[in-house]
Amino acid sequence: MEREGGTISRALRREFEHHRGELSRVGFFLRGSVVRRFMPCGRAGCRCQGSPPRLHGPYYQWTRKVRGKTVTVRLTPEVARVYLAWIKNGRGLDDLLAKMEKVSERAVEGLRRQGGR
Ligand SMILES: [Zn+2]
Repeated sequence: MEREGGTISRALRREFEHHRGELSRVGFFLRGSVVRRFMPCGRAGCRCQGSPPRLHGPYYQWTRKVRGKTVTVRLTPEVARVYLAWIKNGRGLDDLLAKMEKVSERAVEGLRRQGGR
């Protein structure tokens, strides 16, 4: 890439293109986390109120922040697996974007130096 005031090295362009290729393979993704919990119910005399308590569950919940507020969605165990996989994709995407940003910073730093003083 020719730029006024300098060029971006072949190595950096190659590295960026490598990450761009990885980016194109990122599948569906989500943010947030899946929590697995056991809970008591309200029924008097239920095993969950015993000693020791035997709680109900596991229950799965997807928790995430939406405009600063925590939002929770209840999931079946089957669908929780999909959520977990897509959350993992989301983290991979974040890592990838961070790498691309680093390469971009190195590239622009190179341009800045070539631009002189
Ligand atoms: Zn109970």
